[in-house]
Amino acid sequence: MHGFFDTRIEFLKGVGPNRAELLNKELQIFTFGDLIQYYPFRHEDRTKFYSINEIKAEMTYIQIKGRIGHIEMIGQGRAKRLIASFTDGTGEIELVWFKGAQWMLKKIQLNNEYVIYGKPTIFNKKLNIAHPEIDTISPTEDGQSFLQPVYPSTEKLKIRYLDSKGISKLQKNLIAEAKQHIRESLSKTILDQYKLISKQEALVNIHFPNDQDKLVRAQYRLKFEEFFYLQLRLIKLKLTRTEKFSGQVFNSTGLLTDFYNNHLPFELTNAQKKVIKEIYQDLKSGKQMNRLIQGDVGSGKTIVSFICMLVVIGNGAQTALMAPTEILADQHYKGLKPFADKLGLEIALLKGSSKKRDRKKIAEKLENGSLQILIGTHALIEDAVQFKNLGLAIVDEQHRFGVAQRSKLWQKNESYLPHILVMTATPIPRTLAMTIYGDLDVSAIDELPAGRKEIQTVHKYDSHRLELFGFMHKQIATGRQVYVVYPLIEESEKLDLKHLTDGFEAISRAFPECQVGILHGKMKSEAKDFEMQRFIRNETQIMVATTVIEVGVNVPNATVMVIENAERFGLAQLHQLRGRVGRGADQSYCILMSSYKLTKESRQRLNTMVKTNNGFDIAEADLKLRGPGDIMGTQQSGILDLLIADIAKDGKILEIARQAAQDILNSDPKLEMEENAAIRNQVKSQRKTSLNWSRIS
Ligand code: ADP
Ligand code: MG
Repeated sequence: MHGFFDTRIEFLKGVGPNRAELLNKELQIFTFGDLIQYYPFRHEDRTKFYSINEIKAEMTYIQIKGRIGHIEMIGQGRAKRLIASFTDGTGEIELVWFKGAQWMLKKIQLNNEYVIYGKPTIFNKKLNIAHPEIDTISPTEDGQSFLQPVYPSTEKLKIRYLDSKGISKLQKNLIAEAKQHIRESLSKTILDQYKLISKQEALVNIHFPNDQDKLVRAQYRLKFEEFFYLQLRLIKLKLTRTEKFSGQVFNSTGLLTDFYNNHLPFELTNAQKKVIKEIYQDLKSGKQMNRLIQGDVGSGKTIVSFICMLVVIGNGAQTALMAPTEILADQHYKGLKPFADKLGLEIALLKGSSKKRDRKKIAEKLENGSLQILIGTHALIEDAVQFKNLGLAIVDEQHRFGVAQRSKLWQKNESYLPHILVMTATPIPRTLAMTIYGDLDVSAIDELPAGRKEIQTVHKYDSHRLELFGFMHKQIATGRQVYVVYPLIEESEKLDLKHLTDGFEAISRAFPECQVGILHGKMKSEAKDFEMQRFIRNETQIMVATTVIEVGVNVPNATVMVIENAERFGLAQLHQLRGRVGRGADQSYCILMSSYKLTKESRQRLNTMVKTNNGFDIAEADLKLRGPGDIMGTQQSGILDLLIADIAKDGKILEIARQAAQDILNSDPKLEMEENAAIRNQVKSQRKTSLNWSRIS
């Protein structure tokens, strides 16, 4: 939008300099364009009247018509309030005002007919409506919409009569003038193909819809457009990148075949094979790969990444695997070392705690190219770490790393950008993945290795602890091992540690026949390693730990995961923790312990865990419970600053819009066709907006 919509808001009828300043400050509305895009968050349906005997406390906003039979001021001081009884012939409901009671008392006339609008609640077993809107009945103006927009406002604006109604008046003034200036921003083909209403119709109806159907279509059109341009932008980013950045060609598969035929200890799942093929296509394409592997916990991402390393090493380049914790890096190293040895490959481990002498040795071998696999924590991305020719960098459990860290890996090879493979077990709903990782290609390992049994999850209250201990005794007697995880709940680390050690002592007492280990973030890394190794070798049967074991840890003989204070954990974290069991052939269990006091949300989380093992379902539930802003630091990314579309709720529209964007770019990559002029112009004018796209690439 240009010209008319760039006009400063103070020039709108009904605004002026003072109100303009308030609108700037309070709502970041500076121009006509800003105001017209300040959409109502709901509409009030003024076509429907309820009769009082139909009203139930759980209803949202309702409208009733009737008379006030009795009115009085009651109570003293802060409890002072105005109470009116309102009747419509079918029943009686109480209206209450705590604020502005005097004024209301003067305004209301007994036995006049009124329309009341508000939200019913139960108080003292009686239905009432607090601070209802109250209007005299006026004959409806011809053609006036009964669906009235409701706009968010602020205290400061309300004082200046810019409450929802006030804003609505401004919108009316604006739209009367603006209508003729609204230009179409999508192509005719898209409008036809997706049956969208015009931009003009949409903008008018999003504020003042003629009927419910028009409102829905206006919302759909505007959400579609918002997603369309978001996706267009992301897909273009990806296209330019693949055009701009070439990658080393890795096409010889000798080493991979040797491993596959002679050393692979199990049959790969079809999903693993499919993903390896997709990656291999990238590695030999001559373009730099940027790919995300999504796979639920236990789906076998590590072996997939190792096989891809073999392709790269077989072609003479080096590889790196970065993990978010030392425990995980240790485990990757110990898991992959035997394979590397069999194949005669050099592998090393680099952590923050690595000794100077070891670092020096690693650095030498990296620089002369003899070290083929480097595994480590973020110590890997320090400037001192220089490769001779890094061909592939793998990032495990991506959500633990910032995007900045990912991009640092790019700089590890001066002549060619290394291929990048990102792995995550935080299942992200498809819709969110398409947006957050919209610039990456996504592969999914959507199948678990055969023979795994569903983990059984139960929720128990703390008072059933004896039952829990009994169950643990039984499992341990059959040779299995158990995790008991404590959350960090106190303000102070000291208290947290005390919680953990109290738990440790209680369990040691209750399980005299067992060896019990303890693991937390404050331990030195040798101590952590020592405890972890003891557990892996089944020298300890119970591991009492904080969430340091949350990601990736793999001990197939552990079959019971007990999570204390489970109500304190988020869904993604609970799912990760549960993923530590169910890794072997034996039936595994996850026991969520909580107190009786649960919020509605935490109860929903626990129920979700009990109901499903599927990471993607859990991610969907999480998205709905928390909203997208909370997930994985997306709040900082700016990409979710959407005006009207909602990633959690509008996933369907997002997918359709993404397809539309993809189609356009396939047929007209530079948006040069006359047909796409409107889209080209829109993209140009959006470049000026403040979104910082570089942050997500
Ligand atoms: P995640 O995807 O959570 O990182 P891992 O890579 O740690 O999972 O694999 C979990 C376990 O499953 C490991 O013990 C691994 O050796 C084993 N595994 C991986 N792929 C297969 C397979 N195709 N068949 C049997 N076991 C497998
Ligand atoms: Mg893993």
